[in-house]
Amino acid sequence: MTASGGLVVVGASAAGVAAAEGLRHGGYDGPLTLVGGEPHLPYDRPPLSKQLLSGVWERERLRLRAPETYSDLGIELRLGVRATELDMAARRVRLADGTELTYSNLVLATGARARMLPGAQGLTGVYTLRTVEDALALRTALAAHPHLLIVGGGFVGAEAAAVARGLGCEVTLVTDQQVPLADAVGAEVGTMLAEVHRERGVRIVTGSPVKEVIAEDGRAVGVLLADGRVLRAQAVLVGIGARPDTDWLTGSGLSLHHGIVCDSLLRAGDAVWAAGDVASWPDPVTGERLRIEHRTNASEQGMTVARNVLAGPSATAFQTVPYVWSDQYDLKIQIYGGTRGADAVHIVEGSLKQRAFTAVYVRDGYVTAALGVGMIRQLRALRRLLTTRTPWDQARTSLPVTA
Ligand SMILES: Cc1cc2nc3c(=O)[nH]c(=O)nc-3n(C[C@H](O)[C@H](O)[C@H](O)COP(=O)(O)OP(=O)(O)OC[C@H]3O[C@@H](n4cnc5c(N)ncnc54)[C@H](O)[C@@H]3O)c2cc1C
Repeated sequence: MTASGGLVVVGASAAGVAAAEGLRHGGYDGPLTLVGGEPHLPYDRPPLSKQLLSGVWERERLRLRAPETYSDLGIELRLGVRATELDMAARRVRLADGTELTYSNLVLATGARARMLPGAQGLTGVYTLRTVEDALALRTALAAHPHLLIVGGGFVGAEAAAVARGLGCEVTLVTDQQVPLADAVGAEVGTMLAEVHRERGVRIVTGSPVKEVIAEDGRAVGVLLADGRVLRAQAVLVGIGARPDTDWLTGSGLSLHHGIVCDSLLRAGDAVWAAGDVASWPDPVTGERLRIEHRTNASEQGMTVARNVLAGPSATAFQTVPYVWSDQYDLKIQIYGGTRGADAVHIVEGSLKQRAFTAVYVRDGYVTAALGVGMIRQLRALRRLLTTRTPWDQARTSLPVTA
């Protein structure tokens, strides 16, 4: 069966919902279909490794919108069915149940999937953390207070470590980096956060990648490190990042390279747009290709795509100051901009020792990011340095820099 979907959005999460809603709020009144591979109403992912995992929230609280919002906005939900094929010439998407949707414009917001260690798929006691099912399965496992081994030194692993310690589990965190979280926050702040985790009882093993999960009778019992060490555990959380969900688009004619390659308008091809974790686009200032796995970016891009679809020739380039946060124990870490590749980090207010500070990241003489721990108001004031390309020498004259 082929139906005219009018505007079709594939991927029913932060980016897809923002796009669909933005299209309606922008005045589009034709058919609008939101296709989602998961069987649930669209939900928010950041709480998965925080409030949902700890049991403070139940899953209903994660919903992005009240159930009636979709019908009120005339958005047809096709949930629990994945798009499997895109025919750009015919402007048609095929779904896993055999139905087809033709489109006038298509928004791809398929996000990313958790990466898994080779050979670990399907083993009992091995977990990832990307979907609500993942989080609930891990939560159930943590209730038995296993020794949890976390593979990966990123935000998701660190947040899960904090929650698991809070629930009374023994926790080992293994990372191939020298300093956990260094990719996300740099070595100085990463060292401070590692200290916090150690004080709370997390054992941290650095500098050696995990080669494989060791299993006995189909159940994970630990991991083998590349340097030959064996670490025993009763549950293993693989937190080694995510990869853009684009396999079904292979051969569609879209350019796929670490995500869906878009132009500055977030246009990926003829009447095809992309938003959120799956989209890569050129930074309008540096020309560098970006793909960001941040919650706020997903909504902002969804809204931008909606505007651009409706704007026709007056579509405008996507511009943002990236923003991400992470909650670990009682610390709230917030970052504007991009910390990667920074060659210097300057503490602006507070101190690492106090675990309350703001810091500015500098690359090639320009401010590229501002990070704050527990200093929300002060950090917000630094955001202005990221809205234009600000030389550090100029910025520092107006800041109370302490280091
Ligand atoms: C555990 C966890 C904690 C996080 N914490 C934070 C945080 O604290 N702060 C922060 O800024 N960010 C955080 N993030 C990142 C943030 O959640 C993501 O950036 C955001 O969810 C991206 O939204 P998205 O809509 O682009 O993609 P996703 O949320 O990945 O959603 C994509 C949707 O598309 C569906 N889909 C995929 N392929 C198809 C297909 N072919 N057909 C139909 N549907 C399809 C998927 O099933 C999924 O439902 C976290 C992520 C995780 C996993």
